[in-house]
Amino acid sequence: MNDELFNLIERLANLLRQETRLEGQSLGLQPIQQEALYYLSTCNRYSDTTLAVTEFLGLTKGTVSQSLKILESKSLITKLKDNKDRRITHLKVTEAGQEFLAKTCPPQKFTDAITGLAGDEQSETRALLQKVLNNYQQATGRTAFGVCKYCKFNLKTSDGIRCGLTNETLSNQDIILICREFSA
Ligand code: SF4
Repeated sequence: MNDELFNLIERLANLLRQETRLEGQSLGLQPIQQEALYYLSTCNRYSDTTLAVTEFLGLTKGTVSQSLKILESKSLITKLKDNKDRRITHLKVTEAGQEFLAKTCPPQKFTDAITGLAGDEQSETRALLQKVLNNYQQATGRTAFGVCKYCKFNLKTSDGIRCGLTNETLSNQDIILICREFSA
């Protein structure tokens, strides 16, 4: 049973990789460059650094730095110094990067396959896959990079939403992004 599930998820992941790779070729992007770009479009302001990309992708700093340089040379990302701490450099996806991602992530054929499911089937699938991911993250101890709104530091106060770790205000957009400081 477990093997069947593993095969199924692996097959899905493999198909998704193949489809997105095809799109990436149109811009001469390697899969790892696409993955880094996609990650940067889904992470929050505490997680958009070279170090965070390295941790998320589980690759060496040299490989990731090289990929980020290519993304920058193609104007898909840009560097921005942190307002409070000038030692920190944020990596922001540019408009061109967003446009590219809008066409490729998720691939249109994947969206078609998902919309072939009924609304309750989609919700059920999402909930089950989320559970599998949570359990797997717990088992591997790789619990960072969760969605902000589910973090134990995400506080709802009378003044709005606040991060209990950084004490900064969070917007509705912030809380749907992933964070390297996430804690369940
Ligand atoms: S609440 Fe948690 S996930 Fe959200 S920004 Fe703070 S540490 Fe990150």
